[in-house]
Amino acid sequence: MISIRNVSKWYGDFRVLDGCSTAVGKGEVVVVCGPSGSGKSTLIKCVNGLEPFQQGDIRVDGTSLADPKTDLPRLRARVGMVFQHFELFPHLSVIDNLCLAQIKVLGRSREAARDKGMALLARVGLAEQAQKHPGQLSGGQQQRVAIARALAMDPVVMLFDEPTSALDPEMVSEVLEVMVQLAQEGMTMMCVTHEMGFARRVADRVIFMDRGAILEDVPADQFFAAPRAERTREFLSKIL
Ligand code: ADP
Ligand code: MG
Repeated sequence: MISIRNVSKWYGDFRVLDGCSTAVGKGEVVVVCGPSGSGKSTLIKCVNGLEPFQQGDIRVDGTSLADPKTDLPRLRARVGMVFQHFELFPHLSVIDNLCLAQIKVLGRSREAARDKGMALLARVGLAEQAQKHPGQLSGGQQQRVAIARALAMDPVVMLFDEPTSALDPEMVSEVLEVMVQLAQEGMTMMCVTHEMGFARRVADRVIFMDRGAILEDVPADQFFAAPRAERTREFLSKIL
């Protein structure tokens, strides 16, 4: 579903991505971890075309992001993205947050968008909050709305960039539960997270990045069990 081949990216002289290659199969869940500044966010933004790259290629469901003929907005509509900061529209109600892109980008009718939005709010346990504004919800609730909003577009893959790292500790698990459920339902997911409990439960593979490079890309059980690169061990000893 996602194929990343030898991708490099520079900001001026600074190489932020250094020959990254990996692939995420349909229904696979891949967790990306690594120290701050290692290029995790940049890599994930490249996958949905939010950041250009100078070398290599990324394909999402067969569509090349390096191909100048690719319709990026159209591709992006099929790639769900959930950020650290929820980025909901503050002036819209929760349900209108879920409907907007369905109507404007996918051309769905107001009723169809609303039905879909309400079903997804129920799925993340927030049907009662539909008429509220994001500012009236807790951080954990807002992040669940953000996930529901991404799902409303029927994405072929979901990308997460540290979705729980801005949350108060007591709200982390309610968001992770939604992600676990999604993973168990077969969604293809690429998740930047340091929640290793989540990784152990649902990840098929774990990628470790350092200084723009993918240093490890291994099955999750192997990542947690076997001896690994010095740099990964050092990192894990700090977060576990
Ligand atoms: P991570 O998500 O792993 O913390 P990022 O992908 O956000 O890392 O950033 C990787 C590196 O690229 C960092 O050193 C960061 O300072 C740098 N960087 C990110 N965005 C820019 C930018 N727009 N211009 C220059 N450098 C950037
Ligand atoms: Mg980041």
